[in-house]
Amino acid sequence: MQKILNYIDGQLVPPISAQYLDNYNPATGEVYSFVPDSDERDVAAAVSAAEKAFSDWSVTPAEQRSRILMRISELIDKNLDQLALAESIDQGKPVSLARTVDISRASSNFHFFATGILHFASEAHVMENRAVNYTVRAPMGVVGCISPWNLPLYLFTWKIAPALAAGNCVVAKPSEITPMTAYLLSDICKEAGLPAGVLNIVHGLGPKVGDAISKHPKITAISFTGGTKTGAEIARIAAPMFKKLSLELGGKNPNIIFADCHYDEMLETSVRSSFSNQGEICLCGSRMLVERSIYDRFLNDFVERVKSLKVGDPLSEDTHQGAIVSKQHMEKILHYIDLAKKEGGKIRCGGDVVKLSGRCQNGWFIAPTVIDGLSYDCRTNQEEIFGPVVTLMPFDSEEQAMTIANSTSYGLASIVWTQDLTRAHRVANLLKTGIVWINCWMLRDLRTPFGGVKNSGVGREGGWEALRFFTEAKNVCVKL
Ligand code: NAD
Repeated sequence: MQKILNYIDGQLVPPISAQYLDNYNPATGEVYSFVPDSDERDVAAAVSAAEKAFSDWSVTPAEQRSRILMRISELIDKNLDQLALAESIDQGKPVSLARTVDISRASSNFHFFATGILHFASEAHVMENRAVNYTVRAPMGVVGCISPWNLPLYLFTWKIAPALAAGNCVVAKPSEITPMTAYLLSDICKEAGLPAGVLNIVHGLGPKVGDAISKHPKITAISFTGGTKTGAEIARIAAPMFKKLSLELGGKNPNIIFADCHYDEMLETSVRSSFSNQGEICLCGSRMLVERSIYDRFLNDFVERVKSLKVGDPLSEDTHQGAIVSKQHMEKILHYIDLAKKEGGKIRCGGDVVKLSGRCQNGWFIAPTVIDGLSYDCRTNQEEIFGPVVTLMPFDSEEQAMTIANSTSYGLASIVWTQDLTRAHRVANLLKTGIVWINCWMLRDLRTPFGGVKNSGVGREGGWEALRFFTEAKNVCVKL
């Protein structure tokens, strides 16, 4: 069976422990490859390689760094089908989604930062005839990037690309649950001519490899995407060492539907924003707040649409919803469905596992689930489930909708549906989330700052924010 390897100092190498973890295909429930069970020794080797590479990479002209990153983007495009297949098998998402979203956006990430770095400028501030200040933005050194399993290559490259573009060397850890596309990226980086040690990928468990990245004194900044609890643990370790931190964490996003919305478009997009990638996107709307005058109509129409989603083999082109990423995560989701019932929720559709036949008979599938009848402050409506489960709640006024929307400890994204322009802006201003979508979802210009507030994280990714994060600003003041 295939053994995934670490990518350290330009070489594909086994873990020092020589131990491996099982890597499952969630659609079949079978182990299909092995992941290195690396530890702090592999992280130390990666940091040494990165340190060694930094002296050259940090002074490599931006145009040359840009060309290499552009080449990586082109090679991702060239291998799009192979990468999409790998991601679908590893993560359980429909292969069509992997192709159109994850992998193509991973290519865009490299493309975007390869061009961005060419325009990343220093600022100067002139104090009339007394002095001129200029700001030098230098790369940080060796930085850590830790990513989750839900959009494996997309989120991995969203961190790595700006870090490399800005002239840093990187020690990166993909999720141990979905390591395959990061492994394939190692080969692409070699082919693209990325110098040895500039990017190092260490596979393995969070409490071993991730923890060693957080603790390593030579790693000066960490960009992390994952659960809120893990983010808190990384901050606990890294903050006293004064590491720069960007933490992109969990969410419990409201999808707020006013009666005056463009109904058909709202319905169509709400199905997608609830159940894309089995609801395993941090930006999915998981709490639907619907104005009471259209509540019954919406409930009927929405449930009818959701029932028609095809849960099936992720490799079939007509599958809408694939497998849940792991058995453990499936059990967590089922536990929440059970909790919702105990809290008085009505299951309007779904609510259980789906047993497929043939190749996927032992896979981990859950029917898209719609629940209503719950109070907004119950656990089901406050805690992140991160699966194909949404709740519906009616509201009577804009004020009540805002109270419910802002009631959780999270603050990642909100979705609002209304044709009233003034209300759209007012509500966007009142929502305590880092992202607000009005009459759309997942539309994003990569130049905009991305991230959450409250327990959804600190720091911003995307555009100049990411390039600033991965650089240190030094101000030089020259007396005239
Ligand atoms: P997770 O926190 O369990 O793992 C994320 C990464 O951290 C993995 O690589 C994991 O191995 C590593 N890790 C685990 N324990 C660690 C430790 N002690 N020290 C260092 N690293 C450690 O999260 P997950 O289950 O992989 O992903 C799902 C979560 O990610 C959800 O909460 C989701 O909302 C969140 N997410 C957020 C965003 C965002 O942009 N805000 C995007 C995607 C996912």
